[in-house]
Amino acid sequence: MAERKRILITGAAGFLGSHLCDRFIKEDYHVIGMDNLITGDLRNIEHLFRLENFEFYNHDVSKFVHVPGDLHYILHFASPASPIDYLKIPIQTLKVGSLGTHNLLGLARAKKARMLIASTSEVYGDPNINPQPEEYWGNVNPVGPRGVYDEAKRFQEAITMAYHTFHGLETRIVRIFNTYGPRMRLNDGRVLPAFIGQALRGEPLTMFGDGSQTRSFCYVDDLIEGIYRLLHSDYAQPVNIGNPDEITIREFGEEIIKLTGTNQQLISLPLPTDDPKQRRPDITKAKAILGWEPKVSRSEGLKITYEYFKSLPEKEINHKDF
Ligand code: NAD
Ligand code: UDP
Repeated sequence: MAERKRILITGAAGFLGSHLCDRFIKEDYHVIGMDNLITGDLRNIEHLFRLENFEFYNHDVSKFVHVPGDLHYILHFASPASPIDYLKIPIQTLKVGSLGTHNLLGLARAKKARMLIASTSEVYGDPNINPQPEEYWGNVNPVGPRGVYDEAKRFQEAITMAYHTFHGLETRIVRIFNTYGPRMRLNDGRVLPAFIGQALRGEPLTMFGDGSQTRSFCYVDDLIEGIYRLLHSDYAQPVNIGNPDEITIREFGEEIIKLTGTNQQLISLPLPTDDPKQRRPDITKAKAILGWEPKVSRSEGLKITYEYFKSLPEKEINHKDF
């Protein structure tokens, strides 16, 4: 029997990291999860603890990272991802994108591992063109509130590309657009859990601004498939992975109201500073290079996600501590 490939997944207890752990376990890898639980939850991976091909380290990757034994792949997904999280912990966000990435690149180099980093559509900032192709350099305010996340991710891409170019390290960069699904935190402040949580509690849905800003929501299983293919491709330049089905936040709120059968209204609250007005991935590259495109429609994905949130203990649904 061939020896299992060993993969380190940082941010393993988070939303995306936990789904990645599941996928690589399913593909019979030896998965080493790492997380400091700053925004994650061990319940997302507790079902893996009994497996002999899963290990977990509670560690802050912004500090020196040591993993015994061979490593073939590293997926760096550790980072606060929701605007309310990274506004609450801005310095940790900058550190995990910069120092954390540097530590992991060093580890990848020492182990001769291939490293994939989780970048984001936020590298495009408040984009002047729509949809956004990978060639677009973005429109980011470095000193605005979102700058701590956007610039950490831009630096993360730059240092990863430098390790690729100067050290010949095998690297992959995925630019992830808004993704949703089970295991998002109901109180993480992102629009989908915010709206569903409000609908479940019988509260009005808080639309920021006039709701004319757009987003394009990708179901988590589609994203994971795209990442899996990118990791195994030979393409080192950034690749957008997201669902191009674009919708305004007002229409999205109306969809959630319909889905949840609530009588609630949308109320308008102030638009956060530098909130991008439009966002939609150009996925030409993902289609051509990875043969990937999303398969799950928003209506299907939202139904599954709603069922997940509905099944949470009432205590959790009613707990709104941001
Ligand atoms: P999440 O908050 O659910 O997960 C992030 C995980 O990283 C958490 O478990 C957290 O505890 C851990 N973490 C944070 N700092 C750490 C540190 N210093 N050391 C160790 N662990 C640390 O967020 P998510 O939505 O799963 O996002 C995962 C990654 O994907 C992030 O890098 C994020 O920037 C990127 N991303 C996500 C989306 C999305 O729509 N979900 C979009 C673009 C990019
Ligand atoms: N938003 C909203 N109400 C909320 C939370 C978010 O109208 O309760 C808006 C937010 O202003 C943004 C969009 O929904 O325009 C997506 O926000 P999210 O935080 O989910 O992700 P972003 O794409 O901004 O990182």
